[in-house]
Amino acid sequence: MSETIRTKFLIIGSGPAGYTAAIYAARANLQPILLQGAQPGGQLSITSDVENYPGFSSVIQGPWLMGEMENQAVHAGAVIHHDTIVSLDLSARPFVAVGEDAIYVADAIAICTGARARWLGLDSETYFRGSGVSACATCDGFFFKNRDVAVIGGGNTATEEAIYLARLAKSVTLIHRGDRLRAEKVLQQKLFDNPKISVVWNHVVEEVVGNPEPRAVTGLRLRNPKTQAEQQVSADGVFIAIGHDPATDPFRGQVECDPDGYIVTRPGSTVTNIPGVFAAGDVVDRTYRQAITAAGMGCMAALEAERFLTAAGH
Ligand code: NAP
Repeated sequence: MSETIRTKFLIIGSGPAGYTAAIYAARANLQPILLQGAQPGGQLSITSDVENYPGFSSVIQGPWLMGEMENQAVHAGAVIHHDTIVSLDLSARPFVAVGEDAIYVADAIAICTGARARWLGLDSETYFRGSGVSACATCDGFFFKNRDVAVIGGGNTATEEAIYLARLAKSVTLIHRGDRLRAEKVLQQKLFDNPKISVVWNHVVEEVVGNPEPRAVTGLRLRNPKTQAEQQVSADGVFIAIGHDPATDPFRGQVECDPDGYIVTRPGSTVTNIPGVFAAGDVVDRTYRQAITAAGMGCMAALEAERFLTAAGH
């Protein structure tokens, strides 16, 4: 039988939104409990250089920044649990959230579960996942030291991953389905200036090619959708960096989500359709999706939760 833990304010998720909500809520004496989820620190914990988080004149590392946020939340008085929510009942207050380790009963909840990497959806991609196919260059790039790798995508993530991998790999081929990148201009310039990186434009991945025994990737079969022409690219490692989906599986049907699964909040606030349930960060945001905007929304969620709890007499 799981332990039941009572709290005024439960924060689900440990990215910049969750930790910022925890810092503000703890300082408001709400004694929040923050659940870290399966990936403590969120997406920034598996990224490398961070150059656009305000307050640092030199390059900082994502895992370091998240460690500092966690320390600050604990220092402010938040209680951190390494637990993941599997189901939730938001039909009545107090709300009940069932974790893998405990059951949490809360008067208010902030959902800050962020987003997770998207996959292409090819059978061959699934087959080689963990044996040459990855969605995290900082986690798996080391395995491809002095080898040839490919990165799929044309956004900030793909561009950053290609630049990161070029420090380790012999060559990096960026494969993009379009004819221009949507990454920030400064990143694009770094990518184009890097002699180890080449770009294949206007191609989609048809198949990840490799050997079954031992399971290993050898390359990619690509197709140009306009001309239908195919080509092969050699690669020992393939990094998929084609965007993210909101991590809302346990909340669907409980709180209003849009057709893509993003939680719907009232414009200019973190208020959801359920009084006492707030949502912040990438789990609501399909537009900006930055650490700093997530942190800002986490702050809003804590302030709005505090007002809600005061009005509700807690
Ligand atoms: P993104 O900006 O949505 O870019 C996804 C890329 O993948 C696009 O180029 C897209 O192509 C391509 N793509 C999507 N589905 C595909 C498919 N099925 N097959 C092939 N290509 C596909 O995602 P992201 O790069 O992960 O970035 C997510 C958000 O985080 C963005 O707002 C980004 O600015 C932010 N971010 C910021 C930083 C930073 O500031 N340093 C770092 C990382 C991420 P099209 O271009 O043709 O649509």
